[in-house]
Amino acid sequence: MRVLVVGAGQMGSGIAQVCATAGHSVLLNDVDRAAIDRGRVSIERNLGRQVEKNRLTAEAAREIADRIQPQESLAARLDADIAIEAASEDEQLKAKLFARLDEILPAHAIAASNTSSISITALGAATGRPDRVIGMHFMNPVPVMKLVEVIRGLATSDATFATAKRFAEELGKTAVEVNDAPGFASNRILMPMLNEAMFACMEGVGTPEAIDTVMKLGMNHPMGPLELADFIGLDTCLAIMEVLHEGFGDSKYRPCPLLRKMVAAGYLGKKSGRGFYTYA
Ligand code: NAD
Repeated sequence: MRVLVVGAGQMGSGIAQVCATAGHSVLLNDVDRAAIDRGRVSIERNLGRQVEKNRLTAEAAREIADRIQPQESLAARLDADIAIEAASEDEQLKAKLFARLDEILPAHAIAASNTSSISITALGAATGRPDRVIGMHFMNPVPVMKLVEVIRGLATSDATFATAKRFAEELGKTAVEVNDAPGFASNRILMPMLNEAMFACMEGVGTPEAIDTVMKLGMNHPMGPLELADFIGLDTCLAIMEVLHEGFGDSKYRPCPLLRKMVAAGYLGKKSGRGFYTYA
């Protein structure tokens, strides 16, 4: 298939990598040209590690990297069978992108969003093809994590669902079907836990290290909640909490004030070098 990936940040570059590894040709787009370049560097670094571990030959790694081509603009019609949008977690921005994708993609193409929480139904309604709009929520880091939450919007057709599920499975992922609701299943459950860990930290219940150690050793979580929030991106965590809070109209989902303050300060977690922890 010909795949267009929109957004070349940590998720978009990971999605481009797994699609190219499965043999698809990929166009990688971002509003920021530097993000496309950073995405390609990170893909080549990941593939290089696979070569070092003898999981891939150097030639195969080169072929995979060559299947990913930069696509600087979404101005003209593009030849793609599926678009996977992985731009920043902002409903207005995504709705505009979906309206644009509708104009430039061939009629048969599917437009999928990797959104963590935003309504797939609303993104579908921004297009003239809501039956061909679906959620494909990959997990971070994409090359490692097995799950893709496949989200049906209200108007998503069975044929679109079947294509998205098969596509995810051909990438070696396990597709789990869920219906459209704020945060779907994954972030409706995960994000309030991370937010609660931030409240505990803000209220001085424990240091970030103490809170993370309690959850790692006590609950057998592979990463502590604050470490995981840093890894996801604190801006993304805040955007998801806002969607849950507004979508359910329930104060139990209110974003932690410390999270708001950190995002306002530009402490976005690992990607900015500082969050609950500092990164080299
Ligand atoms: P990121 O900040 O690393 O990357 C986002 C990219 O989108 C940036 O490079 C930015 O320049 C680009 N962008 C912004 N507006 C754009 C536009 N109009 N057109 C094209 N590109 C645009 O964020 P990320 O962590 O990769 O998250 C991307 C999406 O994936 C979000 O919807 C997020 O909720 C979702 N997601 C994130 C995670 C995670 O753990 N970080 C996991 C699953 C899903």
